[in-house]
Amino acid sequence: MIQMASYLNYSMNVDFVHFCIVKIDSLGVCVGKLTIQQHRCQQATYYPSPHADERPEPQDIHLLVVHNISLPPGEFGGPYITDLFMGTLNPEDHPFFQEIAHIKVSAHACIRRDGSIEQYVDFNRRAWHAGVSTWHGKERCNDFSIGIELEGTDHTPYTEEQYQTLAQLTIALQETYPGITDACITGHEDIAPGRKTDPGPAFNWNYYRQQIAALTKQDG
Ligand SMILES: [Zn+2]
Repeated sequence: MIQMASYLNYSMNVDFVHFCIVKIDSLGVCVGKLTIQQHRCQQATYYPSPHADERPEPQDIHLLVVHNISLPPGEFGGPYITDLFMGTLNPEDHPFFQEIAHIKVSAHACIRRDGSIEQYVDFNRRAWHAGVSTWHGKERCNDFSIGIELEGTDHTPYTEEQYQTLAQLTIALQETYPGITDACITGHEDIAPGRKTDPGPAFNWNYYRQQIAALTKQDG
């Protein structure tokens, strides 16, 4: 019934169709598959962010960074994440927005609480998500990584739909960009320690990795 309620709530939105792509059958096994063509997830709603540029080495994509975001902080739904990444956030809409409306940031994609995906930057281009960061001694992680936001906070459990979509998207990205091995998936907090805390203790890395393993097995 919970799922049905979220379906009904969502039916007002065009993303409804996309949400249905990832569904859970009666055994809890994820079915359906996300596809990436021309560096875009075909099941995502696409918003082309101006906050992006070319990678210095276009072929070098070997890291997946998991983030969280919510706008206003702690509130879910609404257009504000998209607005921020599109550079159209209105500073008058909330006191907090006055602090961030001028900041030019983006991510490649965001997974909403219902598991639907918005994409803002083609995966082969450089999104501006990591900031000052280091991965295994290599700085400027934006150059060689893909950044995926989960709509959430450090201390709010992420939804089952988000885990399922994230695992599906991870598999699709790994198939398209083989440099992203299972060992090359990390959190923003791990590449910018002391400066960033997302996706935070609420993110269940074990569960996420189990889902990836289960999907990989299913595929194979
Ligand atoms: Zn982050």
